[in-house]
Amino acid sequence: MERCDIKSMTLSELTELTESLGEKPFRAKQLFQWLHQKLANDVGEMTNLPQTFRETLASSTAMTSLKTVRVLESGIDGTKKFLFGLGDGNVIESVLMKYKHGNSVCISSQVGCRMGCRFCASTLDGLTRNLQASEMLDQVYRIQAMTGERVSNVVVMGSGEPMDNYDALVRFIRLLSDGNGLHISQRNITVSTCGLVPEIRCFAGEGLSVTLALSLHAPNDSVRKNLMPIANRYSLDEVLPACREYYERTGRRLTFEYSLVRGVNDSQEEAKALARLLKHEHGHVNLIPVNPIRERDYRQSEREAVERFKETLVSYGLNVTVRREMGRDIGGACGQLRKSYLNEEEGNKHS
Ligand code: SAH
Repeated sequence: MERCDIKSMTLSELTELTESLGEKPFRAKQLFQWLHQKLANDVGEMTNLPQTFRETLASSTAMTSLKTVRVLESGIDGTKKFLFGLGDGNVIESVLMKYKHGNSVCISSQVGCRMGCRFCASTLDGLTRNLQASEMLDQVYRIQAMTGERVSNVVVMGSGEPMDNYDALVRFIRLLSDGNGLHISQRNITVSTCGLVPEIRCFAGEGLSVTLALSLHAPNDSVRKNLMPIANRYSLDEVLPACREYYERTGRRLTFEYSLVRGVNDSQEEAKALARLLKHEHGHVNLIPVNPIRERDYRQSEREAVERFKETLVSYGLNVTVRREMGRDIGGACGQLRKSYLNEEEGNKHS
């Protein structure tokens, strides 16, 4: 029988487990705090639990603990990229970005991705597997433990499509914001999706207050289909109302992400069309000059084109930010560090 993964369990699930192992229910809360607040890596560290309970836990349950395989630090802005090893030998990456308002961690939600967005490095080898909630959490926990600095914001914007790993995503958010855990406010958590409509609608009913970011990248379906295969499944007429429902039910303003690709989606006509499309939506636009990846020949829009695009949106009354590029010198875009590591490993096998 597969051992249960205690770091993915809610307090009430842990209470049930604790009682079934013959311990008092208050032990479950102590265990939960060790896992999610004191960020213990091993049951051996949980010194206020009875020795016998610790032994039972060690022999009958599993506890996810990521291994740090590599850390890269940007010489420009202090951004750090972490390559973590999972129990089954897969690797994932996470990023720590330091802002004036606090430390933000960008986590992966899957090993690889099956969404196929043309400009994205995470999807080049397809999906390997979903991450468990504990594997999503431990990216934040290990980074906070290693740096000794509190993580205040978490963005689910690394490799993977979070809505394609829905149950683990929701579990992750509840555990990360739990008062007996790191207690990161849901308002400081952002989930970015390429736009899986049924999941967005379901997410709107979870009673959460995280920020939803939609990867839009185009003002109409035909341009969007060129960049994102998901646009063949859901049209903008379906995805925008789903996001509106999220706003209406949660009161959380949306973020629309738009990666600017030279000559593909960065013309003035496209800026105007985007402004008309979003004029009555409740959210702001985040422009991201595309981060070129080796495997594709997409290029960044010129600096002036980015500025002009932004000004046009602003002239229509939209709120617009241009994402500051972080960690440019350490393999910028999502999935690039993992991809280059896998390429190296592949090279080593053949040499
Ligand atoms: N699957 C989710 C989250 C992961 S990607 C999603 O699609 O939203 C986070 C954001 O970075 C998305 O908007 C994605 O489209 C964008 N992105 C991916 N690769 C990029 C690249 N090379 N340059 C710029 N943006 C990129």
